Amino acid sequence: MATADIQVPSHHKAIVYDKPGEISTKIETIETPKPGVGEVLINLTHSGVCHSDQAVMCNRWAWLPAPTQAGQVGGHEGVGTVVAFGDGAEASGLKLGQRVGIKWMASACLNCLACMSGRDACCPSGKISGFYTPGTFQQYALGPANYVTPIPDGLSSEMAAPLLCGGVTVYAGLKKTLAQPGDTIVIPGAGGGLGHLAVQIGKGMGYRIIAIDNGDKEDFVRGLGAEEFFDITKYSKDKEGNKKLADDVKAASSEGLGAAGVVMCTASNAAYAQALGFLKFGGTLVCVGIPEGEPVPIGGADPASMLVQELRIVGSAVGNRKDAIETMKMAARGIVKTQFTVEPMSKLTSTFEAMDKMQLKGRVVIDLSKE
Ligand SMILES: [Zn+2]
Ligand SMILES: [Zn+2]
Repeated sequence: MATADIQVPSHHKAIVYDKPGEISTKIETIETPKPGVGEVLINLTHSGVCHSDQAVMCNRWAWLPAPTQAGQVGGHEGVGTVVAFGDGAEASGLKLGQRVGIKWMASACLNCLACMSGRDACCPSGKISGFYTPGTFQQYALGPANYVTPIPDGLSSEMAAPLLCGGVTVYAGLKKTLAQPGDTIVIPGAGGGLGHLAVQIGKGMGYRIIAIDNGDKEDFVRGLGAEEFFDITKYSKDKEGNKKLADDVKAASSEGLGAAGVVMCTASNAAYAQALGFLKFGGTLVCVGIPEGEPVPIGGADPASMLVQELRIVGSAVGNRKDAIETMKMAARGIVKTQFTVEPMSKLTSTFEAMDKMQLKGRVVIDLSKE
């Protein structure tokens, strides 16, 4: 192990889920690990706080293989600097002091079918940060040198942290529409955590963005670059309302034919039921938001309509390593920004409480240098 001249302490502060199943976190002092073969030790300075962390802490996702263990260090949107290399890790080309990020998929095997097809975020032996591995709500964490995300100069760590998750997720979703520059993309939930990033990144990719959300989000979303906005509250929540919204979206789309893609940035079953109606021939619905509770099939996805219009429905889980690198580069160029407030470690529990009551405006980023 090479540590050069960077001092690494024997212990550091970490925020753990002390009572999994409920909203509760606790700051503890834990032993700082040594990097193993191919690993780097990262002195984390910032971590975003995500709804997925809350779901893991509160055991809200039945699809995870086991309940969360007490003492788990959560977090998966971490940025910091490389402070030590394990054996062989320097071959990655990373340098001591270089900034890197840890995202949701903290490591992947790089050898399975998913990894080899560029879908390493779905690697069955991949490790989810803050669930399978100690996450980013701590001052020091390990990561594979060949899998952490380099953070470009000119992008602040506070800004980079939440973009490692939401930004990467919507960027990968937008790519999966296979749309061309100039095509129309519809973003349901455009004013939300994922949606507001999708509007900016989609615009940066050359798409014309049609945004859908509650009317009070209109100014915000148009300010981010959406060309058209539809207020969902102005449409009845039935077949007739869905048809009227679909007609309006189509009329506003390129050539009035409908959208090349819908990137679903809400977790609403009602929104999924509307989405196929927005598409033009050969269009793609990308499922990104995950509805909670009992799964409901996507409305309108009957074989005849799918076949006649050759529509596609695809899922998109986070994004791969390349998507993460590309998203960071876009952010460094100023194409996408996220609103955030910075809080000390002791504010994590109250952040989750505010999140649970839907009171958060923008993202919270934890400053891991402040207790
Ligand atoms: Zn996240
Ligand atoms: Zn794999």
